[in-house]
Amino acid sequence: MSQISQAALSALRSAHPTIAIDGPSGSGKSTVARGLAALLHGDYVDTGATYRAMTWWLLGCAVDVTSQDVIAEHADQPMIELGIDPSSPAVWVDAQDVTLAIRTEEVSNAVSQVAAVPAVRRRMVALQRAYAETAEAQHRAVVMEGRDIASVVLPGADVKIWLTADIDARAARRAAQDSVLLGSAAQVNDVARDLANRDEADSMRETTPVRVNPESAIVDATHLNVEQTINAVLRIALEQMGLPHE
Ligand code: C5P
Repeated sequence: MSQISQAALSALRSAHPTIAIDGPSGSGKSTVARGLAALLHGDYVDTGATYRAMTWWLLGCAVDVTSQDVIAEHADQPMIELGIDPSSPAVWVDAQDVTLAIRTEEVSNAVSQVAAVPAVRRRMVALQRAYAETAEAQHRAVVMEGRDIASVVLPGADVKIWLTADIDARAARRAAQDSVLLGSAAQVNDVARDLANRDEADSMRETTPVRVNPESAIVDATHLNVEQTINAVLRIALEQMGLPHE
């Protein structure tokens, strides 16, 4: 597939679009969303990081994360902030930098339970929307990644993508990412099992179960590298915005 032209990229940049990238863990969403936001000189919003930040805080307070009611009682307490620069995204909870701390296995294993609580989702969705509103008010593109962005958080997004890959490719990516971020050397099989468990929990929950949004264009990145995936997403963005490729 040929690269899109500079003129097409400039046209997309000038339109400062709102781009929703949804998909399962390890599909390469973060890398692609960050790369895209950088190319468009826009903001990057990692919504999974907001649920992880809430989970990190609850675990730190020894809150029982198996009880939806107990989680709901605490859902409005921590102050969560995201750094939206795609070259160095960050996460703070009550002004403490938790960018790395929210990536641990402990948080990964508990986050689906926390994200299933309606009070948590209401608060996180409001927070996530506020970042998109700021970008829009300041005439910047925004690339938001998650599971329910096209369907719930930004149903009016200009561009909607569902990025996926097969479970082995996703597990290999996530294991490589974790070894760089956390210095851990998890077995790909273990990572695949954890991802599959999390996918299942996310798709079975009552509140906003994770589903492919029917309006989103599906990009399967199993056999694509990052550059190819970003190129595919850029083409779809141009198409969905009615802008020429050349
Ligand atoms: O994307 P990431 O793997 O960091 O997301 C962690 C978890 O947060 C997901 O497994 C899911 O439970 C939850 N999540 C969600 N809605 C989003 C983003 C993430 O429920 N928009």
